[in-house]
Amino acid sequence: MNGSLRIGRIAGIPISVHWSFSLLIVLVVLSAPGSSASEVGWLLLWVLALFAAVTVHELSHCVVAARRGLKVEGIVLLPIGGMSQISGLPGPPTVELEVAIAGPLASVGLALVMGLAAFATGAPVWPPTLFSGSWLARLAWLNLLLAGFNMLPALPMDGGRVLRALLARHRDQVSATRIAANVAQVIAVLMIVVGLLFDLWLILIGLFVLLGVGAERRSAGIQQVVDGLVVGDVMARDPTSVPAHVSVAELGGWLAAFPGRALPVVEGSTVVGVVAMVDLVGRPAGAPVGSVCDRTSPVLDPSTPVFPAVLETLSRYHRDEFAVAVAGVPAGVLYRSTVEQLLRGAGPRSSPPERRRAA
Ligand SMILES: [Zn+2]
Repeated sequence: MNGSLRIGRIAGIPISVHWSFSLLIVLVVLSAPGSSASEVGWLLLWVLALFAAVTVHELSHCVVAARRGLKVEGIVLLPIGGMSQISGLPGPPTVELEVAIAGPLASVGLALVMGLAAFATGAPVWPPTLFSGSWLARLAWLNLLLAGFNMLPALPMDGGRVLRALLARHRDQVSATRIAANVAQVIAVLMIVVGLLFDLWLILIGLFVLLGVGAERRSAGIQQVVDGLVVGDVMARDPTSVPAHVSVAELGGWLAAFPGRALPVVEGSTVVGVVAMVDLVGRPAGAPVGSVCDRTSPVLDPSTPVFPAVLETLSRYHRDEFAVAVAGVPAGVLYRSTVEQLLRGAGPRSSPPERRRAA
């Protein structure tokens, strides 16, 4: 996420802190006027404990997601909580359910361990306490609160995801999202109203939910358009490719005859990248294509689903065309414009005819 600082890596998952986190620290210090340095110190330590609990919660989402084959980018800690960056969600309902429930379960587990430890040391665990009393008891209640709060059925919070996954068992994903989003909006508005009366953080979280719900609705709308489509349905099917040793001048002449076209670049018979006119501009005429082509953007497989995998690729890589190959053998090119046309709702389900001309 932009504006966040990597602070470490746990179980292979990068953990970052967003810059706005420093505002939280300032707010904590300012909110305790007249307190001694040690009192402020304890307060900051409490904030740190809260975010350690949040990190454990998010880590368990990420670990389950990684086990289910989803791509985990990392965890960002924000003042309103943690955010796991996981590609490929919502995915199948069972996967979304497992990933969503993992966080609250971890928090409940931590709460039990802390509560039992408090009990074992003779510290009172009842009545509930957050800001005074034994640290073990406070941490137990903190984790329980974290689990309970996240289980509110408000998309994109965990409880909302669980609700959507359960709804999707008996209906399609799009209508499951619609119902879960309606529930989330009602809860978000309630949070904001209650927040106005009692607590600023609730307003922030209510706004976060409203924003998140909007994104989930848009995503469900897009899914409806491209549901079931795979790369093979939307790519320009053309096995033409260019060997990596061909010169920039030679390929440039060829591409000039076919404006807007791109080609997979092969070494031997294996696709290693993709090249379009934009990659040749300003390059030495004698340079081999293999040295100027784009080798960083992914080579897609015709069976890859458009939603969400291809859409994520399109948002992550600023390129207009992607090589498609089957086990390394060139099969065609996927053009961004084709997908965008599709998303506008009126586009053809195959590529424009001028791109299908054989070379
Ligand atoms: Zn969670």
